[in-house]
Amino acid sequence: MSVKQVEMVLAPREPHYVGDGFRVHNFIPSGYGLTMQRMDPFIFLDYASKFHFTPSPSKAKGVGVHPHRGFETVTIAYQGSVAHHDSGGGGGVISKGDVQWMTAASGVLHKEYHSEEFSKTGGDFQMVQLWVNLPAKDKMSTPKYQAISNAQIPKIKVPNNGGEVEVIAGNYEGHTGAATTFSPIHMLNAKLNKEGEASFIFPPNFNTGLLVIEGSVMVNGIEAVPLDHFALFANAGEIFTVKATEDSIVLILSGDPLNEPIASHGPFVMNTRQEIMQAFEDYEQGKFGVLED
Ligand code: MN
Repeated sequence: MSVKQVEMVLAPREPHYVGDGFRVHNFIPSGYGLTMQRMDPFIFLDYASKFHFTPSPSKAKGVGVHPHRGFETVTIAYQGSVAHHDSGGGGGVISKGDVQWMTAASGVLHKEYHSEEFSKTGGDFQMVQLWVNLPAKDKMSTPKYQAISNAQIPKIKVPNNGGEVEVIAGNYEGHTGAATTFSPIHMLNAKLNKEGEASFIFPPNFNTGLLVIEGSVMVNGIEAVPLDHFALFANAGEIFTVKATEDSIVLILSGDPLNEPIASHGPFVMNTRQEIMQAFEDYEQGKFGVLED
């Protein structure tokens, strides 16, 4: 097996606000070279780095009702908690360690706010939101929702008391993740103690990257990846190692590229421009359902 090398390390871009509750750094698709195609099927990544919100008890901060079609949104909570509602009746609160996996597919309306409890107390807030593209044949399938509590996520020990790897989706060392996916995807949280080291094996052609959520790591013994930075791997080689230079949390993504045309506009990601126009038309005609602000 040959080593999968780091192709580049990206610093976080200047943050911007999504609504008034999500202060995010966009890595995909606006990161240097991190186009939708380059990280396909991970077509969008907003990272809310750790940020302290003061209490806002009278009005929860967040983002109001908006549509999605053609992909899945995955929200991973590292600090703080988010309440979510969608037009399919799905919803709930996800807190530290939990994952919300929403398959928008043919279309949903949803809204995302700081939870009532978090709004009362304020505190540190840190999340990742990913969009996972759907294969063309599944883009118009029925929406669904996977609420994944931290307790449901398999945790695999790292040797020498080095920490653990949470398997959100896909698999790690033969252990299958909590989420079901439409195409081959691995999504892992490596929670490593200082000096803890884990190795990861993915097919050479899988688009692969990692984001340092806490601490800092050394990849393959040579590439330092600091806090809040994203490392993109080359599409060659299979194995890489991640060693924590301090207590660290690292989100690891690897997916089989769909290699289908991408037509994207705002909250819709389809395969053709015609399908995007149709999405706008269906949205305007109320075909995404109803959700109150
Ligand atoms: Mn959304």
